[in-house]
Amino acid sequence: MAVGPGTKSKRIGIMGGTFDPIHNGHLVAASEVQDVFNLDEVIFVPTATQPFKKGRRVTPPEHRYLMTVIATSENPRFTVSRVDIDRGGTTYTIDTLRDLREERPDAEFFFITGADALAKIMQWKDHEEMFKLAHFVGVSRPGHELPEGVANDNVMSLLEVPALAISSTDVRQRASKGAPIWYLVPDGVVRYVDKYDLYQDL
Ligand code: ATP
Repeated sequence: MAVGPGTKSKRIGIMGGTFDPIHNGHLVAASEVQDVFNLDEVIFVPTATQPFKKGRRVTPPEHRYLMTVIATSENPRFTVSRVDIDRGGTTYTIDTLRDLREERPDAEFFFITGADALAKIMQWKDHEEMFKLAHFVGVSRPGHELPEGVANDNVMSLLEVPALAISSTDVRQRASKGAPIWYLVPDGVVRYVDKYDLYQDL
């Protein structure tokens, strides 16, 4: 697609996730990729509610969306998209990329994914088309090896990011036991979890 004089296509990171809840591991990874890849923006895209994820009930999308907005609100380069929530059904990355491509035809996309998710990327729906729509950036995550055989090449880069051993699962379990979640998630997310009594009945 032609771009007008003096305009440059934007470099945009995309971070998909359940974000139940969003935590500082997500934010640090996105911030590091933004810096290293010189991205203009990183779009966080909460998934629609799969009825169950690994056998548990996922928190309704509006709560996960609002926590993601709260967590990203102070970073001028971070935004949040509702494309997956509004489409509904099972979220596949190929659909996320197609919808965002329609919204931003000129952008160069960098899809950010943690080492755990990356291990199965060749099983993702329509992965060959997926690789045409975005460059993939696999980020390190404590407890998960960046997989061998997934090379740094034209479609995929691997990046070591500051190691934060935080998972949403752990945050939920702590909240359900009344253990502190301060400093694992942004302060506004702690208050939101408290206000709506999230994660009380795991
Ligand atoms: P859960 O514990 O509920 O499975 P999660 O902590 O893995 O959740 P997701 O919302 O599933 O969080 O993750 C979204 C994306 O962020 C995935 O690509 C995941 O690999 C990545 N990610 C999550 N936590 C970290 C972390 N601590 N460091 C780096 N990447 C992370």
